[in-house]
Amino acid sequence: MDKTNEKRGKAILRSAAKPSQEIQGRLLHFLMRRYKKDFTLQWEQDIDMTDGFVLQAGSDVYDWSIEGRLRQFKDRLEQLHPANREIIPLIKETVNNWIPEVMPEEMGEVISVGDEIATVSGLEHAAYGEILLFSSGVKGMVQDLKEGEIGCILFGDEEEIVEGSIVRRTGKTAGIPVGEEFLGRVINALGEPIDGKGEIQASEYRPIEAPAPSIIERQPVDTPMETGLLAIDSMFPIGRGQRELIIGDRQTGKTAIALDTILNQKGKNVICIYVAIGQKASSVAQLVETLQQNDALEYSIIVSASASDAATLQYIAPYAGTALGEYFMYKGKDVLIVYDDLSKHAIAYRAISLLLERSPGREAFPGDVFYLHSRLLERSAHLSDEMGGGSMTALPIVETQAGDVSAYIPTNIISITDGQIFLESDLFFSGQRPAVNVGLSVSRVGGDAQTKAMKKASGGLRLDLAQYREMEVFTQFSSDLDELTKRQLVYGQGLMRLLRQPQYHPMRQHEQVILLTVALRHLMQDVPLEKIDQFCNDLLAYIENNSATLCYQIDQTGKLSEEDQDAIVQMTKKYQADLKLKEDLAGKDNG
Ligand code: ATP
Ligand code: MG
Repeated sequence: MDKTNEKRGKAILRSAAKPSQEIQGRLLHFLMRRYKKDFTLQWEQDIDMTDGFVLQAGSDVYDWSIEGRLRQFKDRLEQLHPANREIIPLIKETVNNWIPEVMPEEMGEVISVGDEIATVSGLEHAAYGEILLFSSGVKGMVQDLKEGEIGCILFGDEEEIVEGSIVRRTGKTAGIPVGEEFLGRVINALGEPIDGKGEIQASEYRPIEAPAPSIIERQPVDTPMETGLLAIDSMFPIGRGQRELIIGDRQTGKTAIALDTILNQKGKNVICIYVAIGQKASSVAQLVETLQQNDALEYSIIVSASASDAATLQYIAPYAGTALGEYFMYKGKDVLIVYDDLSKHAIAYRAISLLLERSPGREAFPGDVFYLHSRLLERSAHLSDEMGGGSMTALPIVETQAGDVSAYIPTNIISITDGQIFLESDLFFSGQRPAVNVGLSVSRVGGDAQTKAMKKASGGLRLDLAQYREMEVFTQFSSDLDELTKRQLVYGQGLMRLLRQPQYHPMRQHEQVILLTVALRHLMQDVPLEKIDQFCNDLLAYIENNSATLCYQIDQTGKLSEEDQDAIVQMTKKYQADLKLKEDLAGKDNG
């Protein structure tokens, strides 16, 4: 071979019939102009190609086949906003002005594959986060860019991918179908239904990773997102658009709080998204069942990447859920999204990172694990009125080991969120459920969102509880206490008992306001501890019966005047007097 031949490039042409010398000449000319060197052209027959041809030069592919042209057309369609998607004129335009546009499509080759990761060579221009298409139809996402090779996580069966398989770039970042039809459904991290209720007609496609709303696009949190849990709404109120962490050891009622909050959104026009990451599929099924039984499924969406799913799916699940939430938020709606839980999310990401041979840092997590969660949680916001005024409230959940909030992941997420509800095993096992630790929990912005009624009714509760806790420790070792201290202790115990609340029984605002008003005026002081539940239920029934308008007005306006408070106190006193009379009479009868 002579020297000039070595410098020549080699191009492969695939088509059904052998092209004429003239066409071959034109193609060689095109290649020469493009790459500034001579080429030899090798023809390979491909009888499946009914029309057109595919020209490959190095890793660049020029697709003039019918499929290629259709793909190009489809891509252009997808780039359009659905509102502008007036298909007819576009088809006309495309047909009339059809020029076989040069579309360099890159092809690469699989170097190795295993553990849901493929290493690919040849895709010089692939970008981080881009979706790659393997010849078996499996999709992957670029996660690692090194010189000469790319690390790619796989979203599907890796069995069919072997060394040497062809990989194509798609030029798109990962996305998920979204739309109203997803309400009431259970989907996986790719947006595919897994509840056996048939296909979902999506109305849009959204990238799973999207920039968070900017500062100008936001407004302060000012509307409450009621959890229906007295312990939270009274002391750690959550506002729409806030991010409140639920943190605690395993089995301390973390999921229960999120679930009760979802149940409490019934009739409040809030769309709830529950993202299950690395949980048992049976737990998720149970949760769906509970939502269904409480008529809460119709306004909820469950995104599930269970423990048996690939780590790659667990990794993208929260972003996919957030993309769904954004669809509704940007339409001006209020969304509540629960990430259950982000500890498992971080662990899935750690597994992927280690397989991609990134260097491990603290607790073997990669260096960018903070960014992993900050870019997720920053997407929750209360949008400005110009942006439609929608909101997305996030309730991320984190599991601690033996109450250690200073571990890597908990500290990271605590610093990103606007507060945390800290749940404690000791409280949980002593029967104090929800097991909220009043001292360590905080809500940094929700106070602005609390209604006036709630603020008025709950003022002083935190302080009283703090005093009680102090006194409790103080008096643990002394046996004889003076009368005042004893009363204080009983009062504190009563308050703690009041904050206990069974699962699936969210309280409405007027119920919370009435009970707090009564309790903080020491009106429950003489009710024995074990009778407090009964007392509360009966008292609420009594007041609802006697003053339905007051209850209605509190629920509707969120206001509570001095007169209203007096009325509640008077009614309680009257109820207690009646009760005492009844008991006395019963006592006499027995005697
Ligand atoms: P895990 O770490 O396994 O995810 P978790 O912290 O999410 O656990 P849950 O599953 O919510 O905890 O609750 C643990 C158990 O406690 C469940 O059986 C639940 O029914 C019960 N439980 C939770 N909250 C309450 C409550 N307020 N009253 C009574 N039982 C409760
Ligand atoms: Mg849980």
